Amino acid sequence: MNLHEYQAKELLKKYNVPVQEGIPVDTPELAAEAYKNLKVQYGNEFAVVKAQIHAGGRGKGKIIGKEQRGVAVGKNAEDIKTIAGNLLGGTLVTIQTGPAGKLVNKVLVAQDVYYPGPNPVKEYYLSILLDRAKGQNVIMYSTEGGMDIEEVAHNTPDKIFKEWVHPSGGLQPFQARKIAFNLGVTGNAFKNLVKFVTNLYNAYVGVDASMLEINPLFKTSDDKIVAVDCKMNIDDNAIMRHPDLEALRDITEEDPTEVEAGKYNLNFVKLDGNVGCMVNGAGLAMATMDMIKLSGGEPANFLDVGGTANAQTVEAGFRIILRDPKVKAILINIFGGIVRCDRVAQGVIDAYQSIGNITVPIIVRLQGTNAAEAKELIEKSGLKVQSAILLSEAAELVGKAVNA
Ligand code: ADP
Ligand code: MG
Repeated sequence: MNLHEYQAKELLKKYNVPVQEGIPVDTPELAAEAYKNLKVQYGNEFAVVKAQIHAGGRGKGKIIGKEQRGVAVGKNAEDIKTIAGNLLGGTLVTIQTGPAGKLVNKVLVAQDVYYPGPNPVKEYYLSILLDRAKGQNVIMYSTEGGMDIEEVAHNTPDKIFKEWVHPSGGLQPFQARKIAFNLGVTGNAFKNLVKFVTNLYNAYVGVDASMLEINPLFKTSDDKIVAVDCKMNIDDNAIMRHPDLEALRDITEEDPTEVEAGKYNLNFVKLDGNVGCMVNGAGLAMATMDMIKLSGGEPANFLDVGGTANAQTVEAGFRIILRDPKVKAILINIFGGIVRCDRVAQGVIDAYQSIGNITVPIIVRLQGTNAAEAKELIEKSGLKVQSAILLSEAAELVGKAVNA
């Protein structure tokens, strides 16, 4: 589950990670109000208005049809109101959103991080994520923070440092000091950075995040270290440990078909191809997708109906697949171990009859528990489905269907 910047920053504050203060709002008037409040409270002359969407690259992104960037500095209340007006209700296209962009429903009015002080300011990069290959969390960091970090990673990968954290010992004090040292900070900034990294790591572990990125990590002119931006992803498998975090889910940012599939406990991921597939078991689903590709098609989705599938969930899955106009064929590949084939067959039949008028060819491979009953149900139902016993036969039928 992805969080918005303003939500992630609230969580960080609970772990004593210093963040750039801000107020999330959803109207231009409230944005102007927020600016005034920040000015009274912190004395900053300027404020920064930031579109809240689940995608990065906002600083360089633009609102469709306008000369408005997703992150912009406002010099007074009127300015802030205009920027917020341009952002709210607009569609922001960034390098991460794809050409369709994302609708901006909220903006964060944030304290300007540039204010007068004795020392130079600097933008760093720091993130924590799970290194699956090593089975350890890794802290990645660089002196080259800011909006061009992707290019830094691509052109000068040696400028990105990595620090792995052993799961049993956790982050060690010497590691936090090493990070501060490698980033080249000294004096108070050094102490503040060590504390920042330590608290940030605690936050990452505490909320069961699987990704936490601070870019820029900012050193202010008075040597404070603050998170100016924050992207956070919470491990969905750990959400049950954090009922309070569940409320932070913003379903308007998620794929609507995936949200609906979630309601039926279907493990569904939307893809771009032309062959819909319904499978039980993630491994079989992956193998089925490979098989679809080998036969000349492209999977339109990943769908694992799981072991507890019943006629209702199968019907729901079937409807979701059929909603995609690109789908030219559907392959149902079930190996009945825990799930019974006849239940799946009944779900397909129910869906078929209640939706009616289905023109795409359906290829069914049902094997295992109650496969014979399933076959009989389908034959009696009068559905025009094509049956396959072997995976290779199913593949051949899929190939014919998509190349027809
Ligand atoms: P994104 O990563 O989506 O582009 P950021 O929050 O990193 O969005 O903002 C982009 C850039 O805007 C930052 O790298 C920083 O230079 C500037 N910026 C963002 N917030 C502030 C702020 N509160 N004060 C000053 N500059 C800011
Ligand atoms: Mg950023």
